[in-house]
Amino acid sequence: MQETKGLGLYNVVIILAGTAGLVTAAGTAGLGGRVALVERNKMGGDCLNYGCVPSKALIASARVIDSIRHASRWGLDEQEPRFEFETVFESMRSRRAQIAPHDSAERFESLGVDVFRGEAHFVSPHEIVVDGRTLHGKNFVIAAGSRAGIPPIEGIRDVPFFTNETIFDGLRHKPESMIVLGGGPIGCELSQAMSRLGVKITIVEVLEQILPKEDRDVADWMETLLEAEGIRVLRSSQALRVSMRDGKVQLDLIRTPRGASGGERMQVLADTLLVSAGRVPNLEKLNLDAAGVKLSSLGIEVNAYLQTSQSHIYAAGDIVGSYQFTHTADAQARLVVRNILMPFQILRQKMDYSVVPWCTYTAPEIARVGLNEAEAKQQNMSYDLICVQIDELDRAVVEGEELGFVKVLTTKGTDKILGVTMVATHAGDLLHEFVLAMKQRIGLSRLATTIHAYPTFAELGRKVGDRYNKQRLTPFVKRIFRWLYKRSRAASTPTSARVPHAQNVMSGKKE
Ligand SMILES: Cc1cc2nc3c(=O)[nH]c(=O)nc-3n(C[C@H](O)[C@H](O)[C@H](O)COP(=O)(O)OP(=O)(O)OC[C@H]3O[C@@H](n4cnc5c(N)ncnc54)[C@H](O)[C@@H]3O)c2cc1C
Repeated sequence: MQETKGLGLYNVVIILAGTAGLVTAAGTAGLGGRVALVERNKMGGDCLNYGCVPSKALIASARVIDSIRHASRWGLDEQEPRFEFETVFESMRSRRAQIAPHDSAERFESLGVDVFRGEAHFVSPHEIVVDGRTLHGKNFVIAAGSRAGIPPIEGIRDVPFFTNETIFDGLRHKPESMIVLGGGPIGCELSQAMSRLGVKITIVEVLEQILPKEDRDVADWMETLLEAEGIRVLRSSQALRVSMRDGKVQLDLIRTPRGASGGERMQVLADTLLVSAGRVPNLEKLNLDAAGVKLSSLGIEVNAYLQTSQSHIYAAGDIVGSYQFTHTADAQARLVVRNILMPFQILRQKMDYSVVPWCTYTAPEIARVGLNEAEAKQQNMSYDLICVQIDELDRAVVEGEELGFVKVLTTKGTDKILGVTMVATHAGDLLHEFVLAMKQRIGLSRLATTIHAYPTFAELGRKVGDRYNKQRLTPFVKRIFRWLYKRSRAASTPTSARVPHAQNVMSGKKE
């Protein structure tokens, strides 16, 4: 018998329809569970509406614009690309609309999920209220995501600014200039895309390097490239005050160059401001006290099984705070589906973060898995480093995409991969050979013995393996090989071809 929507007990009540919520809902309903899904805003959450999807669509248009601008690289006449800023944004929105039906309420209703629209909050550990209606659940999944954090800068609430939630739908005309507050992955990706669309960009980053999760040499490499594209990068720059002057946004800041003791006060003026200075979890409206759910410094506190302080309430996605990516939200949600189904704790699985890839979609992309040098040093690990330049790949050269490099860290004296940082046009895709190798404990020697098609970017995996093998060829090993070759020649050389022994020649004795 079909149960009435909203009445009775649900197996799982999921608060919110972002990546983590949708994956949990589809998985549980697919296995036959009774699921309620609540979303206050647009289905699909940040990734579809204000994150990965629109940003990557904009980046794709910006890439084409850049290719036209530098067409001589491929033997064509260089020209200034002709485009309407608004049309590029419309195209981004229409590509996003193509993906939207995957996450729609209709699709999820058709999968058997009861979808409720409105703001959800807990009234007890076993009940939530949404739009005046109480929903009862055996289990709950909190996947409320995150939003752009607005730093406490004097005057910021009195000036208009964009965040990732407003820029893709709200920026209707091309600004001449833009200040991007925050030089993390979102700030760098959007800065480069907007700059290629003709907006004069200034990135203001409080830390000593942009892309703070990456090694300093990687971040500096990208900074040099962004500057070469005309982007101004102000590192070690603390924003002090924001105000309006003659219709423009003025940012007062204090900048301390590397190695300097004192800071220099500066003002930056631009048509508009984009804030991309970190994320904060969406906790406020959930009334977590009523549920008895504890918080951590990053968001909601969870154990390795993704259970909160109330073991029947799980949390997944950005709200947990550790790895704020769509693919980690997806992986966590899959684990939650399994763990809710399991009747005993002993059968439940722990979340494994040992091999988590990510990518910053600048051009070239910066993709990472495992440790980088800074982290290995922090953990006092001794490692070997293998570096290969992208221009060592024939395919990269013929395609005119030879910018970049890969750094592979291995456990000292072995071929076990500890981590990979790849800077290359297709780094986000190419990384996955190493991701699989790490997950399946495949060492670099085995990558070297795997046949890769020529000419492909994927040959990078084999090249790294070859470089590892070459590094193993110490002078001692080389001497052994030389001796083996010599011995093999001596054994098969016909007697007549043998060089006479010097002593015998001098004594005139026949051998
Ligand atoms: C510009 C940008 C680019 C990005 N690019 C990438 C990328 O390329 N690759 C990648 O892996 N990640 C990327 N991310 C990160 C990715 O978007 C997030 O990690 C992912 O969306 C997290 O999913 P989630 O389910 O935790 O939350 P979300 O997708 O944010 O979903 C949470 C939903 O909960 C709703 N909600 C919150 N509170 C309530 C309430 N009380 N009641 C009802 N509903 C509520 C919100 O409206 C939202 O729709 C990007 C993020 C940004 C901002």
